[in-house]
This record gives sequence, structure tokens and C-alpha cells, in this order.
Amino acid sequence: MFLNVSCNYLKMCKLKDMVSPCIVFMLQYSKEIGIQCASCPSSPHTFAAESQPTITMHIFKKVSDLQAWVARERAEGQRIGFAPTMGALHDGHMELIRMSCRAGHRTVASIFVNPTQFNDPKDLEKYPRTPEKDILLLHNNGCDAVFMPSVEEVYPPGIDVSIDLDFRQLDKVMEGVFRPGHFKGMATVVHRLLDIVQPDSLYMGQKDFQQLTIVRDMIRQMHLKVELVMCPTMREADGLAMSSRNLRLSADMRSIAPVIFQTLQWAAETLRTRPASGIQTEAMQRLEAAGLRPEYFDIVDGISLLPVAHWADSEFIVACTAAFAGEVRLIDNIVLKQ
Ligand code: AMP
Repeated sequence: MFLNVSCNYLKMCKLKDMVSPCIVFMLQYSKEIGIQCASCPSSPHTFAAESQPTITMHIFKKVSDLQAWVARERAEGQRIGFAPTMGALHDGHMELIRMSCRAGHRTVASIFVNPTQFNDPKDLEKYPRTPEKDILLLHNNGCDAVFMPSVEEVYPPGIDVSIDLDFRQLDKVMEGVFRPGHFKGMATVVHRLLDIVQPDSLYMGQKDFQQLTIVRDMIRQMHLKVELVMCPTMREADGLAMSSRNLRLSADMRSIAPVIFQTLQWAAETLRTRPASGIQTEAMQRLEAAGLRPEYFDIVDGISLLPVAHWADSEFIVACTAAFAGEVRLIDNIVLKQ
């Protein structure tokens, strides 16, 4: 197969002379992948047998290039599915891509580590970045275009792209308590990316349940013409929710971390018979006893995110938790009733 990349990406990675480690890296991943660049003078850079089928994935760095491609696709009657990510991609992210592809969409992923949603600069600095591996994964899962903008492209100097919505309690509970400002930054970047890509469908993971709830509220408040699709949380074999942060877990913490999902499952089994408050307290104790440092374990209504006291009090109940495994902060959730 061939991996077609746009000149923008070649320029970005200084790949024009084809001696970049990036290309070598790609070739190490799969000997079958070739690099072909439609407009580069030294193109085609193909490394694969010509008889193999061409699978094209475009890589754009500039808003204008991405929008020109989206416009061409739309002119051909295609619908656009979009999955925003911060990179360091894994199979959880790929499920968003696969769902969009299965829906018949031309699928766009963005890779952008958004500085405005990190309240701790050290967290931003430590955020894993694996662009070459990400590109291959996206390509192999059927993604049609990747948007990898610079900070200036997303936040053009002198232009205020921030949005100022009142999310009521939605951004104040749970993550909102421990990561002040996070959801304002998240909502702003998702809105900005939606404005750039103009997708028909937006694919987001249940893994970040509060984020998804806030984006749903933003779409409602701003009357955005996009369908929000929730993808189920993808897990490792031992139940740990896949996360880019898992890469930073020590071996010890990696072995303890599945207790988070086990505790959520225990809560799911227990809520029918016990009040939520007792379950929350015991869940925190279970997480601590395992060697984790939980920040919260809340049982909430799946739309309002307000606390639910008993099984009968809501038709949609979710348990959400955040806990430190060593220095790595992990979040997870489980739907208890729907
Ligand atoms: P992130 O790169 O962490 O900002 O995540 C990008 C998107 O992938 C978000 O919509 C996440 O909810 C989703 N996502 C992350 N991890 C998972 C997972 N384990 N399963 C399903 N979706 C996920």
C-alpha cells in the first residue's frame, strides 16, 4: 500500500530529501508502506510494489488546505466524520475512526495537544507525542485525512476564538473541581476545530464522559449542525481504560491500575441495593487500599451530572472517578443504568 502525504507534511518534517528519520521510522513499521507526494518535485517517493492498491491519507497542517479538501469531498457528495484527538493514539482513538468509516463518512482526525486545556504546564510538557506512529495507525484504520495544526493555526494571533458559554454545574463538578479552566479550554478548541472542519458527525469517547456531556451542551446552546456520536470505552484485557497516559505508568502502577475499573464494576453491581453515598465512600476506600490516590468517585445523573442518591432517582446513572496511579492521573466511568 502507499501512504500519500501532502507537501505540507513533507515540509513540516523536512522530509523532501527522503532522509528523515520519520520515513525510516515508517518503513520500519511496515515494509509495505510507500510515500507518495503529489506536488513535491522529487515525488513519487514510493517504496511499494506498483501493483498494490493505493490507500490515500492526506495530512494537512494548514486550515486552508484542509478546508479545500473538505470542500472537494463535499462537492462529490461525501459526508464528513471528525474525531478530535491530542495524539499518542491507541485503539480507543481508533474506534472513533472505525465508527466514522463504518458510517460511510470521509473521516478526518485532528492531532493537536491543546495548551489551553492543561492547567498544569508540567502535564502539558509531559504529554506523550508519537506523531509518526499516530499517522500509521490512522492510515491503517481507514482515516482519510489528518489535521496536524500548529498552535498559531488554531489560535491565530490577534483573533479571539474563545467561546464563553455558561455550562451551569456541568463544568464545575468532578473534573471541574480538580482541573479548573480545563473545560473552558476544551470547549473552545472543540468549537474552533468544528468551525474549521465543519463535519456532519463528531465522534467522541465515553471514556471522557464529562467532556462529552459538555460538548453535547455546547452543541445544543450554539445550535451547531453536527451529530455527536458517543463511542464506547475501549479497554485493555484487564479492564484498564486505554489512555495515552497509560504509557507513563510504572510497572507497579500498571498492575494496580485495573482496580479502577473493578471498583466501577463493583459499584454497578451494588447500586440497586445500597444508597450511592455509601458506595462512593467505600469505592474511595477500595481505590486507596489498592495503592491509588483517588480524587473523586461520584455517582451522577448522565445528563445533568448532578448527584444521584438511589437507583430509582434517575433513568440514566453513571459512576465517574479520577485517581492518581503514582504521578499519572487516570479517569474512567461506567454507566450504571440507562
Ligand atoms: P484525547 O486524545 O485523550 O483527547 O482523546 C480523543 C478522543 O478519544 C476523545 O473523544 C476521547 O474520549 C476518546 N478516547 C480516549 N480514550 C478512549 C478509549 N479508551 N476508548 C474510547 N475512546 C477514547
